[in-house]
Amino acid sequence: MVPLIQSLVKKHLERLAAEDVNLDDFAPKVIEKAKALQERFSPFITINEKLASENMPRHVMKLPFSVKDNICTRGIRTTAGSKILEPYVPPFDATCIHQIKNAGGFVVGKTMMDEFGFGTFATNCAYGAPKNPIDPTRVCGGSSGGAACVAAAAEFPHIAIAQSTGGSITAPAAFTGTVGITPTYGRVSRWGLIDYANSMDRIGAIGKCVYDAALGLSIISGYDPMDSTSLNAPKTDYTALLGSEIKHLRVGVPVEYFGADVDESIKRNALDMIKGLESFGVTWEEVSLPSTKYAISAYYLIAMSEASTNLAKFCGLRYGMEGPLDGNYEQYFAQLRGKYFGEEAKRRIILGTYARMSGYRDAYYLKALKVRAKIIGEFRKAFGRVGVIATPSMPIIAPRFDEVKKLTPVENYAMDRMTVPSNLAGLPTISVPSGTSSGMPTGIQFIGNYEQEGTLVAVAGACEQV
Ligand code: GLN
Repeated sequence: MVPLIQSLVKKHLERLAAEDVNLDDFAPKVIEKAKALQERFSPFITINEKLASENMPRHVMKLPFSVKDNICTRGIRTTAGSKILEPYVPPFDATCIHQIKNAGGFVVGKTMMDEFGFGTFATNCAYGAPKNPIDPTRVCGGSSGGAACVAAAAEFPHIAIAQSTGGSITAPAAFTGTVGITPTYGRVSRWGLIDYANSMDRIGAIGKCVYDAALGLSIISGYDPMDSTSLNAPKTDYTALLGSEIKHLRVGVPVEYFGADVDESIKRNALDMIKGLESFGVTWEEVSLPSTKYAISAYYLIAMSEASTNLAKFCGLRYGMEGPLDGNYEQYFAQLRGKYFGEEAKRRIILGTYARMSGYRDAYYLKALKVRAKIIGEFRKAFGRVGVIATPSMPIIAPRFDEVKKLTPVENYAMDRMTVPSNLAGLPTISVPSGTSSGMPTGIQFIGNYEQEGTLVAVAGACEQV
């Protein structure tokens, strides 16, 4: 175990002991609690009942992690929320799972998610939908909905490993009153992640508090030669940055994120939180990110284009579901995918393929890439003036299941307008609770410059105190 992880784990165990958590035969007890949680809110697709954890004696398993079901876990079924992967049990661990196990962590279960990450509410899953622990008639948010659900409701200390392409950590964290950290693109290895859109996919962590999310990130981050986009940066203990000085921090408040299309009380909570930070010596100013309005269109074109090529690997020959081998290859693939992909996956394959077709490529895909470059440029300019940018995490509170059903796909996609710009840019973000509205939690999102996760942890820690 590397010394940094050793000291982190030691600190964590001391914290548990101080909270009087009984660590004797801890793992099986946690599994029992996870089962009870499943009965109430259904956050899991698979619970790791056998505690499949390579060569690990039970007495060392003291750090429970839930893992989003698109991250490969050796010996534990990994479906990415899709029927097409229903029988798939990976023969290997993703890099972040290796890191968890190296730190004495164990996997409690694989959490519910929108199929391949295609959704904002965790309602597009082949295995059910997690219920919001604060009001079970409402959704948890997606696509890492199960992760946030466990983080919010678990009565055992735990870190939820989640993943975002366009906001899948911030959205569920905001809807469930938890803390979600989405690191700089490349900070956490994507090796072993079932990809949605490779140029944006990021693995991160959700916890009950900033400390838990920061601990999760400290454990899973680090350079990995198996991922060619991995950041070659030293491993950091982000928990040590909690409570660090933010006296000279300047917060940028982008006018485009505080428009009429965001719930009044959510904007008020965010602004009150920013004002509350003044007592830490923080100052703020308005900034402008004018291309924000094009982010949804650019994001969905790029995300769907990448997703439609990624999904081509599910051919029913190598892993996952199989079918009767009649007809030619084309007929076989069409029949198998028609049967096992969900409606949203099919929609994205069709739209993504269209956007990349010759004749349309310039008008859609390439134009979206230009918008992406413009959005990145505007963020860079803003970070010339301010240290972090603060926005509401989501424009609405967690909707009820019946409200989500009524949304058209375009209305649904528009819900991501607070989260997709930073995901297009690969910038780190943290979502932290900012208050409540109609009894439901609201979130404030801080966007940091590249590799500035430490500042995000420090400012989010200050928010907890406010
Ligand atoms: N809601 C967005 C989408 O459906 C983002 C989801 C994600 O980050 N996986 O693409």
